[in-house]
Order: sequence, then structure tokens, then C-alpha cells
Amino acid sequence: MAPVQTGHVTSPYPHLLEPLDLGFTTLRNRVLMGSMHTGLEDSRTDFDRLIAYFAERAAGGVGLIVTGGFAPNQEGWAKPFSGTLATSAQARRHLPITQAVHAEGGKIALQILHTGRYAYHPLAVAPSRIKSPISPFAPRALTGRGVERQIRAFVRCAQLAREAGYDGVEIMGSEGYFINQFLVTHTNHRTDEWGGSYANRMRLPVEIVQRTREAVGEDFIIVYRLSMLDLVPDGSTWPEVVELARAIAASGATIINTGIGWHEARVPTIATSVPRAAFTWVTQKMRDTLRAEGITIPLVTTNRINTPEVAEQVLAEGVADMVSMARPLLADPHFVRKAAEGRADRINTCIACNQACLDHVFQNKHASCLVNPLAANETELVIGPAPTPRKVAVVGAGPAGMAAATTLAERGHEVHLYDAAEAIGGQFNLARRIPGKEEFAETLRYFANRITDTGVHLHLATEATADLLREGGFDEVVLATGVTPRDPEIPGQDAPHVLSYVEVLQGAPVGQRVAIVGAGGIGFDVAEFLVVPEGDSPTLDLKEWLQEWGVVDPEEARGGLAKPQPAPAARQVTLLQRKRGKLGAGLGKTTGWIHRASLVARGVTMLPGVNYERITPEGLVVSFGPEHANERLIEADTIVLCAGQESLRSLEAPLQAAGIPVHVIGGADEAAELDAKRAIDQGTRLAAAL
Ligand code: FAD
Ligand code: NAP
Ligand code: SF4
Repeated sequence: MAPVQTGHVTSPYPHLLEPLDLGFTTLRNRVLMGSMHTGLEDSRTDFDRLIAYFAERAAGGVGLIVTGGFAPNQEGWAKPFSGTLATSAQARRHLPITQAVHAEGGKIALQILHTGRYAYHPLAVAPSRIKSPISPFAPRALTGRGVERQIRAFVRCAQLAREAGYDGVEIMGSEGYFINQFLVTHTNHRTDEWGGSYANRMRLPVEIVQRTREAVGEDFIIVYRLSMLDLVPDGSTWPEVVELARAIAASGATIINTGIGWHEARVPTIATSVPRAAFTWVTQKMRDTLRAEGITIPLVTTNRINTPEVAEQVLAEGVADMVSMARPLLADPHFVRKAAEGRADRINTCIACNQACLDHVFQNKHASCLVNPLAANETELVIGPAPTPRKVAVVGAGPAGMAAATTLAERGHEVHLYDAAEAIGGQFNLARRIPGKEEFAETLRYFANRITDTGVHLHLATEATADLLREGGFDEVVLATGVTPRDPEIPGQDAPHVLSYVEVLQGAPVGQRVAIVGAGGIGFDVAEFLVVPEGDSPTLDLKEWLQEWGVVDPEEARGGLAKPQPAPAARQVTLLQRKRGKLGAGLGKTTGWIHRASLVARGVTMLPGVNYERITPEGLVVSFGPEHANERLIEADTIVLCAGQESLRSLEAPLQAAGIPVHVIGGADEAAELDAKRAIDQGTRLAAAL
């Protein structure tokens, strides 16, 4: 593919697409693909997949790619046998990656990641022996010679990256990893020259950058990722952060990237409920301070920037010199190319769900993307032309059906997509009404355009019956008819003050006191919907969101952390489940805690281990334990049923009887453990194979 030409003056995104001259080299635009661990870094057998993954993103036009983190030595591993760059033999294995990126006109830097006390293995080292809340392994406190060894490992890793053809390195100094652990007294209790005063605590990053620059020469990019807002108790003060930035610039860094929040911070920083560009003000504060002193090092801003419009706006306002986007380039590797071609409305937008990327990494699975299952699967899931084009009906335009229909049409099949509703999207139309899930509307916009572009014949407000499908002359039928709410069979549930989650989310009136039956993903979402006043989603109001989570200007409080001030709840809500134990235990690994914390802050009562006895005009009567003891009335004006779902696949049998090949996907196939990730993945994979 020809390298993307960006930087036209006529572009709708002149700041985003403007090249960045670094003196010895020029980046073709202002988009830095932020470091993301995909899991492909950790095994040499996955390197072919990694090559294809990066090449695809370079072809899509990104200015500078930063790889997932590679450890400079064993102590720095995130987990046993994490990707490491410590020998020339390892460097040689990286050559095809850098060659593939360069062939597409791109540039790539290797991230050097030393995890310190976040390491999930017994070789962990840190400034002091203080266990982190996110790893069971207490680190060994380094001796002075041990610190020297770590510095030499960083420098050697950068030299090897240069040997491997990288255009530069990113030194990971934020997010609470090894370097960050030296900077703050929260994790550094040393009394030698690496601890005590701030000058001593910041010596480590400064030495690393200085010695790296000496070792790699002048014409090699060194990005330093600097924690500008720690969001942990005893985090850095603003004057300390600025002092570090000055020293890093003076030590020979080429670019400073922004880090927001340690991994152990209890403030969400990238989830979908975080407002877009929520933290760019921090980079702007730093840039204004440095520029006032005549320090002109380019700064990168980051976190929840997911559209070219938002990226352009932050650059146009002088917030930063580049924007970092990581997950948006998993979701759409051709983000920059589409923006440059004036086709931003065709971008498959990252909805910040974390479900197929970050959650996978925490489960030791390879990362991919909920809205783009091809991500990091470029060699394995290939969408080629269909050998024999056929006439295919897809029933249901939810996530599964939309993914299947558009992929089938792209391959050359004649596709007819039916939905009984008046709009595409299935349950995503309900999901997008949840405060904090506004991004889900982007997926509907993307698929609406993709349906048009691929030539799918769309039949809305049309219930597909067995007769319609039999008479349509279809060679294949794909059933993506989704799910129907499960009936919990609670005595008294036919009363008018009992509603299903569908009715509630479609706007049925709900009283002041509410009991929610079922605390799965939908029960939690419905609770959020009911406690947030209508039209007042904090995700759409940055000031309110920062107050809710207690984030302030770091000049006002260390690490930018103050007392949270959530807005009052719109209703009094009780969320119930039959299982014992914590509610929301099955929610996403990286987002479940956010949902729980948000509901607790709005006063939602969470009640596990209940039996639903009956519904009365006064509310919901529950009991506890196998003896159904301690009956208790939960007073409620409205009871909402969120008791899971069952598959809707009644068309399967008559079609099979008629001899028509039928394929069942998404919720229609299996309602248990269903989510949009599985629905889209299954739809895409079926369509790639038909
Ligand atoms: P559906 O989305 O149910 O779509 C089925 C479609 O088939 C419907 O449009 C229906 O009208 C149509 N249909 C059925 N029968 C016929 C027929 N005979 N003829 C024509 N059309 C027919 N998932 C996540 O991964 N992450 C989330 O954060 C998330 N949040 C959610 C929040 C809420 C409030 C809800 C309700 C769901 C959420 N989900 C989430 C779940 C996700 O939306 C579903 O897993 C997904 O929509 C299932 O996709 P599907 O295509 O299988 O079915
Ligand atoms: P779910 O996660 O399976 O939860 C169903 C809830 O109903 C559980 O609390 C369950 O707990 C309860 N329940 C089950 N059978 C019951 C019965 N007979 N009577 C009373 N209660 C019963 O399903 P969901 O909440 O409907 O969500 C559907 C899917 O959408 C989920 O699988 C999820 O992946 C996806 N989703 C995801 C998100 C997200 O943020 N990632 C958000 C929303 C939805 P007990 O059995 O303990 O009572
Ligand atoms: Fe974005 Fe979700 Fe895809 Fe991750 S899985 S890249 S958060 S859309």
C-alpha cells in the first residue's frame, strides 16, 4: 500500500495532520499510537502476528507507533517470561517489525517497561520493600549497585532497540511503574542517594535519560512518559512534576508524553464513563509552564481522545504538540487515513469498553477489540472475496447481525438484513441510553455507514417469518435474533409497578424508590440510569465528573487527589441478587470497580443472598438463606426486572425443516455469558468463512 500523504492544508484536521519536525527526523503527523500490551510481545511464535498488526497501523497513516512494553531485564518483567529486549539475538527478532513499519512509511519506537513492584513474579525489585495492592509479590529493595544495574539495563535495551531498527524508544516513567516508584515517598523510603530529597528521588529517571542519550546518539527519538497526575495518596506535587519535566528535557529527551494515574489509583482514567479528553488540561498546564520558561520540547497529551474532531480541537487550542491514541487504533487501524481523506464518519470508533483489550490482558489472553475483532488477529482472521457469491438473509440487526451482514456483503455475497425494529442496533440502542455509555452510539453510526457502503439490502420494521425466508430464495440464513428477558416468576410480578429493563430504558415512568431484581451488567446499568438525573450524565460534563471522583488541579493537592463530591442521587435504589458475595463480581476486570464505586457514591444499597418471595403494592418481599428466613420488605414504588435473558431462535426449526442452511449467532445462539464482544466476533468469523 502506498504511504499515506498527510498534512494537506485543505484537510479538515490541519493541526492533527501537520508533520512534526524533530530536527533529525520528521513525523508525518501528530498522532502517536500509545503503547498497548497485546500479549503478542511475550512469545516469539507470535511475532508474525505482531508484524502484521503494526504494519496495518503504519499503513493506516499513524505518525509514530509505540510498541507494547518490553522489559529491559528479568526483574522488570510484568509477569514471568514477558517480552524482553536484553540481547542482540532478541534484537534480531524485532528487525522484521521495524522493516514492515518502515515499508509502510511509518516510524516506530520500542517502549522500555520496567514494572518494579507491580511485577507479578518473585523477582520483583523496587526502591523499597513495599508490596503493591495489585500484585501478591513483595518486591526486593534494591541496593545502590542494584539500582545501577537497572539503569544499565535501560540503556542497553535502548541500544538494542536501535540495533533492531527502531526509530526510538519510550521510557516508561509513569502509571506507577518502577521509575515512578522512585519519585514519590508513597513507595520510596530510601535514605541513600536514590531517596530522601526530591533531587535524590528524581535522580533515577534523569540518569536513565542522560545515559541513554549518550549511548544512542543524537539522531534517535527518546520519548519519556512522565506522570503528570499520580492520583494516589502522597503523589508528586506540581512543582516536583515540573522540576522533573525540566530535568528530563535538559537530559536529552526528544518528546515528553503524559501519564495520568497510577494503576492502583481509584479514579477511572480511560473507561467509557470518563469524559472525552478529560485530562488534556494537565498537559496544557505543563506546556504553558515550560513554554513560559523557554523550554520547547514537544508534549503529547492523552486519555480518552477517540475522534479526529477531539484530537484536532486539543491541538488547535495549543494543549499539546501531539495526541496519543492507543485503543482507537486497535478499533480502527486506518483512523488517520480516513481522517485525512475526509471520511471520519467511516472510522470504527473505540467505545472505551476495555472488554477485548485491557480485560483480556488481565486474563492473560491476547488483546483484540470488541468493535474490531480483526485487531491483533490480522494474520488469522482474513476477510477475502467469497469463492461463490450467494444470496444470504441475516435476521436481526443487533451487533451480531450487523457484523455478519456487512462482512458477508464486503466479501461479495448478496445480503438482506432484516430487523423488526425501526432502527438498526438491537440492544445497543438500550446500552447507549445509560449515562456513561454514550460512546455506544458511535458503533451504531459506524455500522449504519458500513451497511450503506457494503451494499447490504436493509429491511427495517420487517419481522422475518419462516414464510418470508422460505419464499425469499436464500441460499443461507443467518439467525441473529438476539435475546428476550428471562421471566423470574416472582409471585405478584404482573402488577403495574413492575417493569422490565427494556420498558425502563425505553422511557416508562419510574417511582422514587426502586428495587432492581438482578445485578448483572444490565442490573448495574439500570441502577446507573435511575440514580443519575435525566439528561445530566457526568460523562458529558467534565467539571461534574472531576468533582465526582475528587480530581483537582495538582497545584491544589498532591497527585491531584481530593475528596470526591458525587452529585445527589435522583432516586433511592436497592440492587439485589440471589448469589451470596459481592455484587458485580462478574463485571469487567478493569471496569467493574468503577460501576460499583459510582453506585455506592450515589447511595445505592446492594443486597446479595436474597430469595424473592413476592411483590406487593408496598414493594418487594425478600428472605435469606435456604430456610427462607428473616422476611423483609424492600419498600419500592417500582420494581425493575433485570434477571438475565434467554435466546430467541424459534425460526431455526422451521427453516431447517425446509432444508435451508441456518447459522445461529450472538444471543440467539447462546444467551449465557453473552456480550457484544462475543456477538460481533461470532458474526464476523461466520461471515469470513461462508
Ligand atoms: P440483539 O442486540 O438482541 O439484537 C437482536 C435483533 O434481532 C433485535 O434488533 C431484534 O429486533 C431483531 N429480531 C429478533 N427477531 C427478529 C425477527 N424475527 N425478524 C427481524 N428482526 C428480529 N454488551 C457489552 O458487550 N458491553 C456492554 O457494556 C453492554 N451494555 C449493555 C447495556 C444494556 C442496557 C443492554 C440492554 C445490553 C448491554 N450489552 C452490553 C449487551 C449487548 O448489547 C448484547 O450482548 C448484544 O446486543 C447482543 O447482540 P445480538 O446481535 O446477539 O442481539
Ligand atoms: P447477567 O449478567 O447474566 O445477569 C443476570 C442477573 O439476574 C444476575 O444478577 C442473576 O443473579 C439474576 N438472575 C438470573 N436468573 C434469575 C431468576 N430466575 N430470577 C431472578 N434473578 C435471576 O445478565 P444481564 O445483566 O441481563 O446482562 C446480559 C449480558 O449483557 C451480560 O452477560 C453482559 O455481559 C452484557 N452486559 C455487559 C455490560 C458490561 O458493562 N460489560 C453491561 C451490561 C450488559 P442471581 O442468579 O444471583 O440472582
Ligand atoms: Fe476500544 Fe473496547 Fe476495542 Fe478496547 S475493546 S479498543 S476499549 S472498543
